[in-house]
Amino acid sequence: CGIVGYIGYREAYPIVIKGLKRLEYRGYDSAGVMLYDGQNMKVAKAKGKVTDLEERAEKEITLNGTIGIGHTRWATHGVPNDVNSHPHISNSGDLAIIHNGIIENYAPLKAELKSRGYVFHSDTDTEVLVNLIEEVQKKDNLKLGKAVQVALNQVVGAYAIAVFDKKNPNEIVAARLGSPLAIGIGEGEFFIASDASPFIEYTSNAVYLEDGEMANIRLHKEMKVRKIQDDTLVNPTIQELQM
Ligand code: GLU
Repeated sequence: CGIVGYIGYREAYPIVIKGLKRLEYRGYDSAGVMLYDGQNMKVAKAKGKVTDLEERAEKEITLNGTIGIGHTRWATHGVPNDVNSHPHISNSGDLAIIHNGIIENYAPLKAELKSRGYVFHSDTDTEVLVNLIEEVQKKDNLKLGKAVQVALNQVVGAYAIAVFDKKNPNEIVAARLGSPLAIGIGEGEFFIASDASPFIEYTSNAVYLEDGEMANIRLHKEMKVRKIQDDTLVNPTIQELQM
């Protein structure tokens, strides 16, 4: 199980695919990718290896886009198949999420969301989380970062997540509790990954999120890290990676 994300000026697809291959050692049963090309979110997913995903992606979607997220899944809720693979998209079609970990209280949250009209396509706990974020965002007209924060405070479990909102497409929000998450800081670009191996060739500056922290990663802005629980701003330690 691994996550990779890119936001910047380069083509995201090769970075994400190569990154997923570097994370293969973590083990997985399926893989998926979302690319944003300035207009559309394009998703490809496949049970099996990252090479199966590549085959699928090259057939099914156009591979351009300077924002991308990718995932290797180790199924906990729902069998390994194409539909249960990540990324998962919210009901409106605006939000995309990748998630490593487990949402333990997904069942009551899912029931609540269903009663509000949400429809679920997969058996995953993750699809519940992305729709919870959407519901929170819609209810109080919140920015993505705030909505992720409010939603995560309703969740019991473990996660490393990256979330993208097509309504505000120069940002990725990442958060961690119990699963690792590293952010690579370049010039005019950011990388997100389970460890630094997917981005070490592009930048030697990295921030490792601590448990209970989230990051607003905005293009051409300074990254903001805060505590999920109480919104305190954290001054992140930037580590110098050794090649
Ligand atoms: N619990 C999620 C799922 O089953 C994420 C699993 C993972 O860590 O890859 O889809």
